[in-house]
Amino acid sequence: MQTILLTVAIGLLLFLLYGILPTVLLRMLTIGMVKKGEQKKMLALTFDDGPHPIYTPQVLDLLKKYDVKATFFVVAEKAVKHSELIRRMHQEGHTIGIHHYSHTNSWFLTPLATKHEIHETAKIITNLIGIKPSFYRPPYGRFNVFTMWFARKYSIVLWSAIFQDWKQGTDSKTLQKDLVEQIADGQIYLLHDDGENKGADSDAPEQMIEALKGFLPHLRRRGFRGVSLEEHLNLNTTEEQKRSV
Ligand SMILES: [Zn+2]
Repeated sequence: MQTILLTVAIGLLLFLLYGILPTVLLRMLTIGMVKKGEQKKMLALTFDDGPHPIYTPQVLDLLKKYDVKATFFVVAEKAVKHSELIRRMHQEGHTIGIHHYSHTNSWFLTPLATKHEIHETAKIITNLIGIKPSFYRPPYGRFNVFTMWFARKYSIVLWSAIFQDWKQGTDSKTLQKDLVEQIADGQIYLLHDDGENKGADSDAPEQMIEALKGFLPHLRRRGFRGVSLEEHLNLNTTEEQKRSV
């Protein structure tokens, strides 16, 4: 009995040291990552977890209508299935970032699996659009002790405003109000164009898109531009593109 308890205790301690502690420390101290831009009258919309065959085209149509550039943190296995959407994002001037191969939580990934999730996604994006990605956002914003090493060639970008838009019960009117209330210089909004992941609601993006329809004209009226992360963070794209995968 004592041996079992000791094994469980050691297991829990290792899990804490491997995943939870690095996540808490890195995020609390904002080490090696960006959460916000510094430029005035700019706001970066980021969409995670897609591409989705129904919702992503609707998001792209809206962005085009209001001349907004955004960033999509894509899941590679979905990118492969809907490669035409990745190409469309790129053609329409949006940025494509890494969000793991299969939306896995880094706390449960071995070091090799962590490397695979990041690097394989980078390769797939590069093959699809001919440009190496510059940005990485780990699913759930969770890190393990190896994440920083394997993601060292990328800018890790989290968010400054999160809206619970992936959850069941998301209501477009409330969400639109929240989106409007959070408008401020340098904000990085986290939204989701796919609701198929564990804990998410598959219909939630419908509400998010409805909210976006009201939010985007409002953003323009307030004199803000919706920009890609390169522009938002004032990065030199050409230099970023030279980075090896
Ligand atoms: Zn995600």
